[in-house]
Amino acid sequence: MGQRLSCGTSDEHGLFTAVQCGDLETVKGLIERNPSVVHHSTVYDGQSALHIAAANGQIEVVSMLIEQSANPDLLNRYKQTSLMLAAMHGKISCVQKLIEAGANILMFDSLNGRTCLHYAAYYGHSDCLKAILSAARTSHVASSWGYARFVNVKDGKGATPLHLAARQRRPECVHILLDNGALICASTGGYGFPGSTPLHLAARAGSLDCIRDLLAWGADRLQRDDSGRIPYTVALRHKHGACAALLNPSSAEPLVWPSALKFVSELNEEAKHLLECALMEANMEREKNILKGTAFSPPSPTNSDDAVDDNISEVSDTEVCCICFDQLCTIQVQDCGHQMCAHCILALCCHNKPNPTTTSPTTPLCPFCRSNIVQLDVIKLEKENGTSHDVSSSKLRKSRISRNFSEGSSSFKGLSAVSSFGKMVGRGSGRINAAENEFIDKPIILD
Ligand SMILES: [Zn+2]
Ligand SMILES: [Zn+2]
Repeated sequence: MGQRLSCGTSDEHGLFTAVQCGDLETVKGLIERNPSVVHHSTVYDGQSALHIAAANGQIEVVSMLIEQSANPDLLNRYKQTSLMLAAMHGKISCVQKLIEAGANILMFDSLNGRTCLHYAAYYGHSDCLKAILSAARTSHVASSWGYARFVNVKDGKGATPLHLAARQRRPECVHILLDNGALICASTGGYGFPGSTPLHLAARAGSLDCIRDLLAWGADRLQRDDSGRIPYTVALRHKHGACAALLNPSSAEPLVWPSALKFVSELNEEAKHLLECALMEANMEREKNILKGTAFSPPSPTNSDDAVDDNISEVSDTEVCCICFDQLCTIQVQDCGHQMCAHCILALCCHNKPNPTTTSPTTPLCPFCRSNIVQLDVIKLEKENGTSHDVSSSKLRKSRISRNFSEGSSSFKGLSAVSSFGKMVGRGSGRINAAENEFIDKPIILD
């Protein structure tokens, strides 16, 4: 490593070695002596100095080579760009630098016809994946190709980045891609031939986390691959019993993220996180029931409920959700200001299965005042005894039942403090029952 090579023909070799080790001084010296060496590539794979620097995360060398006008889109023998290699090896700073330098994110290698997004997804580098996606939003790719098309770009075998992430058991990448519009039911087949969906590939790989995410995003358990198999069959065949249990079409359906709702797509990060956690919690609960009594039953956490119960006195002043009387209010509905827990708001948004015949899903109504839900805000729980309650996994149970509830939304308009709402309500109020019914049944009709 780092050894100096003296003879002229070894300048190249010396350069590549120095680049690999991040020996900036040597690299500089060699380039000063022979500027054209920047454009040389290794004999066997045709890697340029930039490829080697990017793959090894030598950010200083990458920056220097770019300043020396190395072309960021130079290809190696397999038509891989430096950006692909940086994404493959998870060298986030190099990914960012190359993107900044104008590297083209829409190049395809000659091995599998993959883009840098495929590489990041395949190797599970979620930071690189995010960087590339955010570049795609702003670069010419968005206008020329379209962002959604880029997210769902297929490789030579018809696999989208989501397929690869699912196959390689990369739940974090699966999540990011879904969040960015990856098509859940994309099939590797083309031209009318059915292929595998991401769910088939996750079933094959036996990734419970990926399966959970894909199902929560509405993946179809009944879609068949080119051999006519549903994901359940694939999981069984590969002996992934727990995955098979979740994929079994006869097991309970999971809650599905209501991505089609306008306000859900516009949620602020905090509210989104809260709802996502509630969704995951609800689905984990369902999962527990499905796996109960099977060999795959997850080890139960040590009496978490009991532990929470002990803390009840601490939360006595915090408001309990008036719908379930179980969780704490964490979400405030705009514009009316009514409050409920994340689980209830989620149930409200999820109870309408997406209907393929209607293009726009029904906007859910506030169960208290029946006004349209425009947006959701997170309620900040007040700190008690210097500790703040973890809202995102609000297992906090009710400690007292104080429900006073009065009709009409106008009186609640502008309510923002956590402490004001729940105190007005009485359990017997017929409105609550009405609200509960509407909740489970059908779309609520506006008065
Ligand atoms: Zn609730
Ligand atoms: Zn309301």
